[in-house]
Amino acid sequence: MKREFAVIGLGRFGGSICRELSKEGMEVLAIDSTEAKVNEYRNIASHAVIADATDEKVLKELGIRNIDHVIVAIGEDIQASILTTLMLKELGIKKITVKAQNDYHEKVLTKIGADQVIHPERDMGKKIAHSIISSNILDHLELSDDHSIVEIKAGKKIVGKTLIALDIRANYGCNVVAIKSMASNDINVSPMATEEIKEGDTLVIIGADKDISRFEKQLVIED
Ligand code: ATP
Repeated sequence: MKREFAVIGLGRFGGSICRELSKEGMEVLAIDSTEAKVNEYRNIASHAVIADATDEKVLKELGIRNIDHVIVAIGEDIQASILTTLMLKELGIKKITVKAQNDYHEKVLTKIGADQVIHPERDMGKKIAHSIISSNILDHLELSDDHSIVEIKAGKKIVGKTLIALDIRANYGCNVVAIKSMASNDINVSPMATEEIKEGDTLVIIGADKDISRFEKQLVIED
């Protein structure tokens, strides 16, 4: 069965979510208060409607209650974003994802019961910062305020060494949860301690940010 989504706010962020979900064959109701935006998505989303999402009556008429997951991507008008989220919550929507504009906005959204709050500019900024510091950092996924998962391209300081020789857990307090091999195009999700790191490998490491940072400084960033 196709899952049903609604995207409210068709700016760059909401628009991109709408496009991707539609491309994946999902049923998407696209909503924006401006006609031009809605026209842009008429041939992309399953339905595209001009509506002010802060109007509860309108949301009800659109049958939003029957939708599994609503994404609120109203950006600058923080008041409209909060009001819309509150109404969706009161209407009993199962999953609400909201884009936050700043930390205060994020706090309010969490308090009123948004299931997922995202901060795309801040999160992308963090990822880019890590990859700027070291070109070996391929990806950075924040698990909490102080824990992350990072993908690190094996540099010359670790190529040829085994996990036991590096003893990353004892020396840095982080765990290597997977090794992606470029040579075999395979991923080993529970590498043995005797596993030797080869050129082109990517290590997937989980740990506290301070420990990962120590690991990066000593073993990843090349002189
Ligand atoms: P982005 O960075 O994703 O481009 P943004 O964060 O700058 O967007 P805005 O452009 O302010 O956010 O808002 C995104 C969209 O939400 C706009 O197309 C706007 O017309 C729409 N929007 C704003 N308020 C409402 C509302 N009350 N109901 C429906 N749509 C709205």
